[in-house]
Amino acid sequence: MYGLYLEKDEVVQITISVAAISLALGIVFAGADGMLAYPREFLFFLAPLVVTVGSGFILHEMAHKLVAIYYGAQAKFRMWTQGLLFMLATSFFGILFAAPGAVYIYSNKISKRQNGIISIAGPALNVVLMLFFIALEFLAPIRQFFSFLLLSGSDFAPFGIGGGVLSVWRFGAAMNIMLALFNMIPAFPLDGSKVFAWNKFIWIGAVGALLVLGALIISPGIVIGWGMMLLLFLVLSKLLFG
Ligand SMILES: [Zn+2]
Repeated sequence: MYGLYLEKDEVVQITISVAAISLALGIVFAGADGMLAYPREFLFFLAPLVVTVGSGFILHEMAHKLVAIYYGAQAKFRMWTQGLLFMLATSFFGILFAAPGAVYIYSNKISKRQNGIISIAGPALNVVLMLFFIALEFLAPIRQFFSFLLLSGSDFAPFGIGGGVLSVWRFGAAMNIMLALFNMIPAFPLDGSKVFAWNKFIWIGAVGALLVLGALIISPGIVIGWGMMLLLFLVLSKLLFG
């Protein structure tokens, strides 16, 4: 078995990725105009994003890493600089392309089944975190007001944003379901492609369960939104990776 520990450069790359994903998401919700109009509030807004979405991102990647190590592979998080910059660029258009990097697995003896289980561990972790945030929403709700959310707030009601108020845990639950659904798209190099290659029925079951959860927690419209994302990524993946 290889080392469980994180190397220093890996910690640096994870930290940069979490900062970037939180910043990109902040820009998606505040808009460039909101960020410039209320820079101090924007900085405070990044804290709940790191806690709910940054943690969802780190723990998702660490779930892949730990399962891969369990199977005797070496696994390292590697930042993807182009993807990170692309994510920041698209955030100005209100789109979060949540792929600043990924865990790379170094082994020549990982089976399709093991690779599928390593891959599904990430989205599964997001579901666990979603349940945790739903529990927190009932036990210790946190509401924070941000002026810039008032400008666009009504658009984000399904994500726990309304009247300029962010319901932190409800937002965290919605975003973790989104992270899981995004990653389960069966287009290379997303997790879904490896789960699909391992077992189509498990993929269908997992996506079906996630869509039901998404419809309940966010809105039924998420099913159509995910379907459109699926088509887009299947086309993009074909164009980029053949
Ligand atoms: Zn993943």
